[in-house]
Amino acid sequence: MIVTLQAGIGKEDARVEAVVALAEANGLAPQVREVAGANISVTEVYLTDGPKATAAMYPEHMFRLEGVDNVRRVTPSAVSLKAGNGAKPHHVKVGRVMFGNDLPCQLIVGPCTVDRHIDRLVGNLVSEHGVKFVRGGCWKPRSSAYAFPGFGEQAVEWLLSAAKAHGVEAVFLEVIDTSHLDAVRRIRDQVGYAGQIVLWIGARTGNLTLLRALGMQNEFVVMLKNPIDGSIGQWVTNAEFVVAGERYFDDDVRLDIQRSLRQGNDQILFCARGVQHHDTASLYRFAPRHDMIDAIRAGYWVPVGLDPSHSAGTMVNDLVIRNLEAGLVHLPAFVLLEVALDNVKPLCDAAQAVPLSRLRQVQKMIFRHNEVMGG
Ligand code: PEP
Ligand code: MN
Repeated sequence: MIVTLQAGIGKEDARVEAVVALAEANGLAPQVREVAGANISVTEVYLTDGPKATAAMYPEHMFRLEGVDNVRRVTPSAVSLKAGNGAKPHHVKVGRVMFGNDLPCQLIVGPCTVDRHIDRLVGNLVSEHGVKFVRGGCWKPRSSAYAFPGFGEQAVEWLLSAAKAHGVEAVFLEVIDTSHLDAVRRIRDQVGYAGQIVLWIGARTGNLTLLRALGMQNEFVVMLKNPIDGSIGQWVTNAEFVVAGERYFDDDVRLDIQRSLRQGNDQILFCARGVQHHDTASLYRFAPRHDMIDAIRAGYWVPVGLDPSHSAGTMVNDLVIRNLEAGLVHLPAFVLLEVALDNVKPLCDAAQAVPLSRLRQVQKMIFRHNEVMGG
């Protein structure tokens, strides 16, 4: 845990002594460091396990002390995604646009799975609909070992080439293996795509090595879908691995603060996509759980969006669109929606794709929602 004092408070200040005293009283080992600049100095108190573990100390107790500016946890199980201390809402820059829980709802659209028609689709999205953000699955985690797993690197190349050709501001794509980070970097550089890339973690991925790897870089924003069968707690825990990054321990299994500290990636987004249910009579493929958006908005600083496609699972009776409309009530920071060309059958999740001929209706819905919320 690191306690940062307000700028200008020096090492010898009584307010630093109060932090040290409280830490010692809680069985922790405090170490004070001061960085003196030309005009101000910043003092931090690093708290490591003493007779008691830092995990047992509540950051709120430190926040209450006079002169404390910030309290951060550094171990993954305890990195605090909790909103608190009157902190401003966290904004994440995607392309040139800020995403945030207090900002207008953004729309990201594209195919479930990238295929050879992607250039035509992206061209239409940009020129006919003014779309800025495009999604596209390249590596697809499937529930059946025999199902099509996506075109992989070939799909990344198609998608980023189309994004470059049509001036897409940001591309969202899913990664399921650590090696995909380097593959995306390499293909982005080959293709020369200069826009933003958001890498997302799907509902079926809980790979901690991958989450840590995403936490050890800052060039890609990371979006985490909620675990398919998981709870909000599991979702937050997965995100903590990204926010914490890799940690290093010495031979005595003590956290090496120097090496571990300046890691982690807080450029993260959450996306609520519904959870597994067992009611075969329901039209919905997954239970929507839009309430997850409220829980995240209320308790955590991460911008949280909505994927109405996967829970509805079908456009029969316009289910995806009505599910989206219902989700807007919960004030998502963005909507991630699967769309398809009207005359081409998508490779995956065909039943839930919103045809392009309906996209304007969706855009109007979100535009009106933003107007009402902004006014
Ligand atoms: C998707 O967005 O296409 C996808 C596979 O999502 P999820 O991981 O939520 O099922
Ligand atoms: Mn899909």
